[in-house]
Amino acid sequence: MSPELLALLRRGPKLLPGHVWLAGAGPGDPGCLTLDVAAALGQCDVLVHDALVPEEVLALAQAERFFVGKRGGLPSAAQDDITAMLVTLARRGRRVLRLKGGDPFVFGRGAEEAAALAEAGIPFRVLPGLTAGLAGLAAAHIPATMRDVNQAVILATGHGSDTAEGLDWAALARTGQPIVLYMATRTLPAITAALLAGGLAAETPAAIVVAATLPEQRVLISTLGAVAEDARARRVPSPAIIAIGGIVAVRERLLAVAHQVAAQ
Ligand code: SAH
Repeated sequence: MSPELLALLRRGPKLLPGHVWLAGAGPGDPGCLTLDVAAALGQCDVLVHDALVPEEVLALAQAERFFVGKRGGLPSAAQDDITAMLVTLARRGRRVLRLKGGDPFVFGRGAEEAAALAEAGIPFRVLPGLTAGLAGLAAAHIPATMRDVNQAVILATGHGSDTAEGLDWAALARTGQPIVLYMATRTLPAITAALLAGGLAAETPAAIVVAATLPEQRVLISTLGAVAEDARARRVPSPAIIAIGGIVAVRERLLAVAHQVAAQ
């Protein structure tokens, strides 16, 4: 490793006793960690993490661990309890790394935790991570944007979409821009029905990327009209990102070459 690369890893501020760093581990593969998060893993003495951060990444820290995520369909720790835990650990003078999957500020409730830390007067820093809805697509050879295909990309959560207070899916459909869904496996039938009712064609390409960047990554290609049934029939596991729109069709043009490179 070049001295410059080592210097980059060491260049940031130090994680001090009584401080909390709120970080994103990316979609899963350790190669997607940022240098800052890798350095933080080497400095923390407590690691508070979610279910989406794989063991391979957690093992990079020599720290006491607290798991506060969902497991096996059980409810996750209450958000208030998590923030209270972060505040208590910091007040005890620990060097706390709060590690979430993806980016901490994208559908990860990181902003709530940051707000609670700010309110409690705990010094904290936010370390961005690669979000699954963008990096996970790239890992599956689906570009988030491509000239002449789309000019915007919509990141949306499927959580709560089966209730009346959900998003205005018809309005999103009318933009004609691709939609990338987080946490949507369960609510996919309701979402796809709403997008179809909103005027999106049933043939619109759709993809489900399961466990993006991880060795068990799987990509299911379908259409808006069929994807909910395909997901049900194949019992798509989590975590999964769902992309709907013309960007999905670009994958086929890239794959032939990507396979050649992988075979070399
Ligand atoms: N903060 C995270 C998102 C947390 S919400 C981020 O920025 O990526 C959890 C959802 O993220 C999952 O339900 C799934 O939709 C998505 N997700 C996270 N990691 C993933 C992965 N490796 N592959 C596919 N989807 C993933």
